[in-house]
Amino acid sequence: MIEQRIEAICHKTIDNCSDEELYSALLVLVKEESGQHVTPVTGRKLYYISAEFLIGKLLSNNLINLGLYDEVRDCLKSHGKSLAQLEEMEPEPSLGNGGLGRLASCFLDSLATLNLPGDGIGLRYHCGLFHQSFADGVQNESPDLWLTKDCWADRTEKTYTVRLADREYSAHLYTISVIGYEGRVNRLNLFDIDTVDEALIREGISFDKTAIDKNLTLFLYPDDSDDDGRLLRIYQQYLMVSAGAQLILEECAGRGCDFHNLADYAAIQINDTHPSMVIPELIRLLTQKGIGFEEAVDIVTQVCAYTNHTILAEALETWPLAFLEKVVPQLVPVIRQLDEMAKSRSEDASTAIIDDDGHVHMAHMDIHFTHSTNGVAALHTEILKDSELHNFYELYPEKFNNKTNGITFRRWLMACNPRLCALIEKLIGPGFKKDASQLRRLAGFKNDTWVLEQLIQIKTANKQDLARWLYSSQGISVNTNAMFSIQSKRLHEYKRQQLNLLYLIHQYFEIKAGHLPAAPMVAVFGAKAAPAYTIAKDIIHALLTLSRVFAADAQVSRWIQIVLVENYNVSAAEKMIPACDLSEQISLASKEASGTGNMKFMLNGALTLGTMDGANVEIADLVGDENIYIFGRSSKQVIHRYAARDYAAADWYEADPNIRRAVDFITGDAMCAAGHRESLTRLRSELISKDWFQTFPDFNAYVVRKNQAIADYAADPMLWARKALINISEAGYFSSDRTIAEYNNEIWHL
Ligand SMILES: *Cc1c(COP(=O)(O)O)cnc(C)c1O
Repeated sequence: MIEQRIEAICHKTIDNCSDEELYSALLVLVKEESGQHVTPVTGRKLYYISAEFLIGKLLSNNLINLGLYDEVRDCLKSHGKSLAQLEEMEPEPSLGNGGLGRLASCFLDSLATLNLPGDGIGLRYHCGLFHQSFADGVQNESPDLWLTKDCWADRTEKTYTVRLADREYSAHLYTISVIGYEGRVNRLNLFDIDTVDEALIREGISFDKTAIDKNLTLFLYPDDSDDDGRLLRIYQQYLMVSAGAQLILEECAGRGCDFHNLADYAAIQINDTHPSMVIPELIRLLTQKGIGFEEAVDIVTQVCAYTNHTILAEALETWPLAFLEKVVPQLVPVIRQLDEMAKSRSEDASTAIIDDDGHVHMAHMDIHFTHSTNGVAALHTEILKDSELHNFYELYPEKFNNKTNGITFRRWLMACNPRLCALIEKLIGPGFKKDASQLRRLAGFKNDTWVLEQLIQIKTANKQDLARWLYSSQGISVNTNAMFSIQSKRLHEYKRQQLNLLYLIHQYFEIKAGHLPAAPMVAVFGAKAAPAYTIAKDIIHALLTLSRVFAADAQVSRWIQIVLVENYNVSAAEKMIPACDLSEQISLASKEASGTGNMKFMLNGALTLGTMDGANVEIADLVGDENIYIFGRSSKQVIHRYAARDYAAADWYEADPNIRRAVDFITGDAMCAAGHRESLTRLRSELISKDWFQTFPDFNAYVVRKNQAIADYAADPMLWARKALINISEAGYFSSDRTIAEYNNEIWHL
């Protein structure tokens, strides 16, 4: 069947097709097939609106979800072709920065799998997150032009008019089918304008930020370190929400909605504050349709719900009113009226929408004018209620709720780790693919020697796969008998890659002193630094430089090898995560809202080395102390210290010889000979004078715990495998199917 369909699409036999032709044919086949699964919507439908969808490649996931993967793979194989090789040809749509965007994509997969009507709304950026390469020890950025002839995003006939500043733009709708696993087909709606000009890109990823008609959707999240970048962000956000709001109203009207009853037809989830302008925009559109202002506010409050993703104060979006007056003057009267309503509900200035300096607080508008505000892990939600948003919690206790993040097991187990998936299926049957709680049954095998040996073999085979890929893509050889510790996530000081750096330097001194580790280790990093984030780039430089210093030292390189994977993205993650022994989740407690990387690693049989932060807390609760390596101070202690403002990094540096030794090494002769003194000096000074994310107070605990993990790994591989099995068996809770079911039962009611 498959063979005939492919040949019918190509008009020739598979043997005569090039890989490009086969890839295109499979794209057509999937699109035809998904067209068969579209089912009409009845009742309320969800719109998940998000500035980011970190989609990842789609071919294998779509084939898996359509139940065609094995058949296609075997058919190609019988003609000497490899599906895996075709997958390599697919450009990855990286329309997101990290966890937040990846969450949105996992949610779309789960919505469709659970047969819930729920579409995404976002932007069709011509360049996703920049492509990262390393040269001379530094990160270089180049544009990621992912739009090729064969592309999952189909251009539709639909356009919506959006007014930005003094001009009208035509937002063109593109759609990507979202195919559920044995489920329905939903849509990801992405807007773009036709006048975007890729020739605007100058050196690297710089471009003229003022030519709005040419740059509006050119890049995901342009650098917002200057005013032109910040203005462009408002332009982008409004294009997305205005076109999105029009699409929602049009679809609902098409199904018989008279707008007074919009809440019976639509639920909107606002993913972080980037889409917050959808609130005033919908109110504006509803009043244009003859609905009174107060009723419009009520309707929008019933329809919309808001997800908070951060407790980093600097990441909570505010816009100067003057910026909004320039780009979206039509919204300003609505926002002013909402601000007055908010002020009439509470005299507390901290809950105002427009503050005394004329800044508009997007999250405040969300909390006042949606019916639900959720955090993304239990600890995060508690911190929101107790401290960050405490004043709002007192005002609206009923609005606050928690929805611990999740990941789709179709991508993060079935697609990326076929060996482990096959073993699990052999042990407990296929039911876990749709009901992740069934993974618990694996615990029954925790004393089964054969099963534990299989786990070890699978991990080794996955490490060999990763090693082959590292060699072919970056020319790096790694020791696959070593323990693989992996820290892969955006580079940010709060995630504390610098703590890992200090550990590695500490080990250097220990090895030199003859205190050898219990096992050799490969320390793998994957991380992009935001182009304007100087210290983050300094940390990358220090890691790359340290990696060179280690590699040149025969004594140390026998024990530790440092690898930085270029261009960390979803495809890289899919190769790295199945090969991991020790998952580094070492953010400063209270700073990582949830994390989802931690869940992916756990599901793939890695043990977590982490702080009691974000969803690590829930992982620890599920697996028990003996199956996780927790260290460091608690969120309570950290929050207390910030409130007391009494942390002085320099005191720790002076008092602790191990810290001093490691920090000073950063600018020592070996590092400066291999790297750039200016960058290394800046990093060392930053640590001693600020260390804003408090690496020093957790340093010794981290060293002790990590070395304990290595010792356990070396001492008893079967016991380690048993711990890994417990982790896999408890990972079911972190399926995004569970998360989406909770959103639906408690917020959306689709
Ligand atoms: C899962 C994922 C993330 C999020 O990782 P965290 O460790 O939760 O920050 C970021 N980037 C990619 C490519 C991912 O797949």
